[in-house]
Amino acid sequence: MEPRQAWGAFSIITILADAIVVAALLSYGFEPVLVGAIALIALLVYFYVVYKRYHVEVVPEEDIKKFEDPADLRILCTIYGLDPEGGETDIRNRLLDFARWNRDSAFIWIAPKAVQYFGAALEIPPPPRTTSARTVKSLLREGEDSELDLSRINKCPICDSMTSKEDSICKVCGADLRFYTRLQDSKVGRLVLSHKSEEVRRKLRYEVRELERDK
Ligand SMILES: [Zn+2]
Repeated sequence: MEPRQAWGAFSIITILADAIVVAALLSYGFEPVLVGAIALIALLVYFYVVYKRYHVEVVPEEDIKKFEDPADLRILCTIYGLDPEGGETDIRNRLLDFARWNRDSAFIWIAPKAVQYFGAALEIPPPPRTTSARTVKSLLREGEDSELDLSRINKCPICDSMTSKEDSICKVCGADLRFYTRLQDSKVGRLVLSHKSEEVRRKLRYEVRELERDK
């Protein structure tokens, strides 16, 4: 099930639910104009949130090569609804295939499992899809661009700890400050960051607890 279709199916259900609530409120004698306005606002909010949250950028091939932490690649797979299991090379190749497949579109729809489930339950057939026969070699190339001014970064985008002007690596969590600060400029990057910082904070909390116990 393609996320886009799944959202279509889910939206039909949302609109129906909205209509049912409207009918119920009207039957209770509520003011039709008021009910209509609320129903319209609810739908607008729904579509706005879905569009803002689930219509994200495709990370291009070149950028995928710059991701060094396998955990980040796994997060990216989860965001795009790809299988996050396997070794680093497998995950990277999966993402590269995905980037090639979507190279003509800057944005793509993503959908959480619950929404995909709705789409599948309504049995909307997926569009025909040809598979790429090309095999992709593992590519781990260091990003060479570093124009981003470090003095403008004052906070680690992963763990929120303060950084000094000379730091290129966070002293607390070890994050590459340039790389992750750049990620903040895209929606998909912010999604990666929110997953990542959750993981890192959990780990940091755990380590602190371990230290306390050792005392
Ligand atoms: Zn940090």
